[in-house]
Amino acid sequence: MKDVPPLDRAHELLERKNYDALLITSRENNRYLSNFTGSDSTLLIRAGDDAGYLYCDSRYTEQAKAECPKWRVIEYKNVVESVAKKIVDLKLKKVGFESRNISYNLYHRYLQAIDNAVLVPIETLVDKLRISKTEKELQLIEQAVKIAETAFDESIPLLKPGVKENEWALLMESKMRSLGSEPLPFDIIVASGQRGAMPHAKAAKAAIKKGDLVTIDFGACYKGYASDTTNTVAVGKPNKEMVEIYQVVLDAHDMAIEAAKPGVELKKIDAVARSYIDKKGFGKYFGHGLGHGVGLAVHEEPHLSPLVEGVLQEGAVVTVEPGIYIPGKGGVRIEDMIYVSADGPELLTTISKELKIIQ
Ligand code: ZN
Ligand code: ZN
Repeated sequence: MKDVPPLDRAHELLERKNYDALLITSRENNRYLSNFTGSDSTLLIRAGDDAGYLYCDSRYTEQAKAECPKWRVIEYKNVVESVAKKIVDLKLKKVGFESRNISYNLYHRYLQAIDNAVLVPIETLVDKLRISKTEKELQLIEQAVKIAETAFDESIPLLKPGVKENEWALLMESKMRSLGSEPLPFDIIVASGQRGAMPHAKAAKAAIKKGDLVTIDFGACYKGYASDTTNTVAVGKPNKEMVEIYQVVLDAHDMAIEAAKPGVELKKIDAVARSYIDKKGFGKYFGHGLGHGVGLAVHEEPHLSPLVEGVLQEGAVVTVEPGIYIPGKGGVRIEDMIYVSADGPELLTTISKELKIIQ
């Protein structure tokens, strides 16, 4: 699968599900299949037809023609009228659409315009085509990781008592941008001391205090591809309990990475970390899933979670990010990215080790 080009994957899906066409509307899926980087477009891909139709408005026509030479670029005034006319003219009967992406209103406008064609919800089937990364995608992700890690290494000596979380986050962001990151895939999380108990705390005006553990969740974006890493560090000597908690999270993280092999059930990998944290008495403080895919979107398929069916695919890029968050005390999360090769996990980020203490 990992050597199959994106558009061939879409055609394989059309064949497998016996659809006449796919109507693709989500930004990441459009970019993945067509290479179009604009923020607004619609794709219509017909079974057995190598050249798809790319619909955009006049803001993007030239860009789409330049970026997608193999596509028939159609400029529209009214997207529904334009796409529906093609569906009717080509006599397409069964059209798969991205039911998680199209609004209720848009869906009904299409329904009224496509005569007796049928729109079939395909949920995340197209998102799932993106799970197994191509060699080129992997290189772009590695470049995003490199930018993020270089910026982190340069910024970390400046994380000192008295520095405000949001000031440091801004510094880190500007370093990533000057090293070549596109706008960040998500706001940097900097959560110090007790605020570490909030898994997704935004960097705030809080000043770093001596002895604080600081959870820093950050990622860069390179040619559309994201990275996502969390390091928890100590500023000055941390208290003993938090050091112990750090070790529990680190051990859970290491065990889960080791288990992340192709063919293993997604929920089983989650369970490796979760059952260990539970055994250590912190189960109720680990509320979120263990990890997620990363690529054109920072959170994408597959999800490593107790709620998800399915197995880990070869070629996937996923995070492993267990955490323990204790209200009133603080928290620890450790997140690394791995590439799932045929032989098992390969680290993309520099693996987290013992708690780093910044003096
Ligand atoms: Zn993260
Ligand atoms: Zn993450």
